[in-house]
Amino acid sequence: SLTGKTAIVTGSNSGIGLGIAEELAKAGAAVVLNSFTDREEDHALAARLADDHGVDVRYIPADMASADNCRALIEKAGGCDILVNNAGIQHVSPVDSFPVEKWDAIIAINLTSAFHTTAAALPHMRKRGWGRVVNIASAHGLTASPYKSAYVAAKHGVVGLSKTVALETAEEPITCNAICPGYVLTPLVEAQIPATMKEYGMEREQVIRDIMLARQPSKDFATVEQIGGTTVFLCSDAAAQITGTTISVDGGWTAL
Ligand code: NAD
Repeated sequence: SLTGKTAIVTGSNSGIGLGIAEELAKAGAAVVLNSFTDREEDHALAARLADDHGVDVRYIPADMASADNCRALIEKAGGCDILVNNAGIQHVSPVDSFPVEKWDAIIAINLTSAFHTTAAALPHMRKRGWGRVVNIASAHGLTASPYKSAYVAAKHGVVGLSKTVALETAEEPITCNAICPGYVLTPLVEAQIPATMKEYGMEREQVIRDIMLARQPSKDFATVEQIGGTTVFLCSDAAAQITGTTISVDGGWTAL
């Protein structure tokens, strides 16, 4: 059980982050939800999770594009035993016309934020003598697809950062790993469907099976509960010697 542990999940008011937060709360951890917005519904979501799982859940706004915001999130939480770097955005465009501001935002939110939060969280983990860093990379942290240069670069970077942090904490009761999901049906993926339908002139179901899941041999999306369950496993005693590696949850994508 994760009772007594505090988990911070970046980018967790929707999608995979929310699924991870739910599974950590179910396992007994106190959870800090985060995104860049500060709406009533964000705080209501925290209250709902707290009610459902009988644990302390707070929502702390912080923009993962900002170094200061990343570090302030950890300090405002007042402690961090489990850090899940999940916030991420996507943009699809050929490299020679890739908008510079999109490149910068993707590198900042998907990669650099994990550097800042990890740097701020490690002292807290060391003080309490235990820690888990779980970075949500992607199958695109291990393989590439055309038109996703910034995302693929950032996710490969996240895998490299995870290995380095693992080596720097190797003799301590702290681990750092990356989870590499294949396609998970979330708002981020849902938003790619209409453009892909238009691009290929296909219906939704055909786009899902033949385009989106073309490289996912299971022909099935992974679920946010499965990514959450994998995160909880990495926080368990069984995973104490798993560090500096990647766990693919991708229906066979990287076996192809
Ligand atoms: P999503 O769009 O549903 O969720 C992204 C989350 O990040 C949201 O909570 C959003 O509010 C938050 N976020 C965005 N910009 C932020 C910022 N500047 N500061 C703080 N929070 C911010 O997407 P998702 O599919 O749940 O993706 C979550 C993570 O999983 C991402 O890192 C993504 O790259 C990764 N991933 C997703 C898939 C997939 O198929 N959905 C596959 C592999 C990896």
